Amino acid sequence: MERVHSLRPPAGRPTNAIDAVDFIISSALKLRASDIHLSPHIPTTEHPDRYLLRYRVHGKLQTIRANFITNYYNEIIARIKVLAEMSSSDVGIPLDGQMVVSSGGDHVVLRISTVPSAGIEELVIRVQRNSNQNLSINKLQMTEEMRMKLIRVTQQKSGLIVLNGPAGSGKTTTIYSIINTLASAERKIITAEDPVETRLPYVNHTQVTSKTSFASLSRAFMRQDADVIFLGEIRDEESAHAALQLAQTGHLVLTTLHSRDAVGVVSRLEALDIHPTNIATTLICSLGQRLIPSLCAKCKEPTHLPDDKIEFLNSILPIPEDTQFYMAGQSCDACVKGYAGRIPLFELFVVDAEISDAINQKQSKLQLNALARQKGMSTLTEEAVLRYYYGYTDLDSIQTYLANYEP
Ligand SMILES: [Zn+2]
Repeated sequence: MERVHSLRPPAGRPTNAIDAVDFIISSALKLRASDIHLSPHIPTTEHPDRYLLRYRVHGKLQTIRANFITNYYNEIIARIKVLAEMSSSDVGIPLDGQMVVSSGGDHVVLRISTVPSAGIEELVIRVQRNSNQNLSINKLQMTEEMRMKLIRVTQQKSGLIVLNGPAGSGKTTTIYSIINTLASAERKIITAEDPVETRLPYVNHTQVTSKTSFASLSRAFMRQDADVIFLGEIRDEESAHAALQLAQTGHLVLTTLHSRDAVGVVSRLEALDIHPTNIATTLICSLGQRLIPSLCAKCKEPTHLPDDKIEFLNSILPIPEDTQFYMAGQSCDACVKGYAGRIPLFELFVVDAEISDAINQKQSKLQLNALARQKGMSTLTEEAVLRYYYGYTDLDSIQTYLANYEP
């Protein structure tokens, strides 16, 4: 597991580089800064020092009075690089690293990046505040029913859980949320990832390199007495077989796979030379995901729909009475052109005894889909429409989604 650095800021002005680093980081956390910038500086009357410490607070870069930095600048950079396990011999090339600090019981992940600037390194630290606390199945924006199902399936001792969705669909956040929910001292969790995007307490993260494929790592994982294993991606027959083998030998295996939708994971695994019987006995569930634009709650405006649109939406999912539709408003200080971030759509395909039988009998994707729908699975399309009925998104956004993703 990654070492956690406990911050011990000095009572007064730092008198060495070690204290200076703790001082700089803990002051940034107190001021709720999102980024810390350390850079060389050409002295000005306003700021006569040769170095600049700035924090980005609420989106604004602010200079911090810290002339003690002048004495230790290079040592401060070196100390941070040691804590973040970054190479200190590679001077003159951009580097990045990561460290976890604890402050008042909270673990905060810091992402560090350095670039050489006229022979002196500039350093930026991105603060991922409470990132672990926010990573939880309970924080995923899904319906209560789906959340309960997901919690239930992730409590299984062994089997395969597959997430699918295109790049940028938010599935990494979902995977980390599941892992962080499972993470505890009583469970051994190991991962093979490319790249390792977040480090979590109680999780052994392993970076896949040119020398270690997913498949070779998973062979090593067989001997690691793990309970939960995250394999970043099934990308070929070798990694598919490796994932299946781990899932069949007493491990709960989480992974991702490219497929159009949740049910499509079955045929995708078949295409990767996995026998339907093995899929039927091993696959616990697959979770499809997409992101769609979210309306700014502060400035969204009520709107009426023409009859043909109402008919179209009713054909997907009946519109509840008294539904108020919304469209993007004029920009406000909380958004960009009426939109604020994105919200996820989920599709959870749970393999129960009956669906397992159907997979074993090599039923078609259409038949599996119909069976899952009978058992209450909502599709990504229904989820999109539902987000519109609830006022979280607008018609443009779901129409764009439908145009891009519908078969
Ligand atoms: Zn707004």
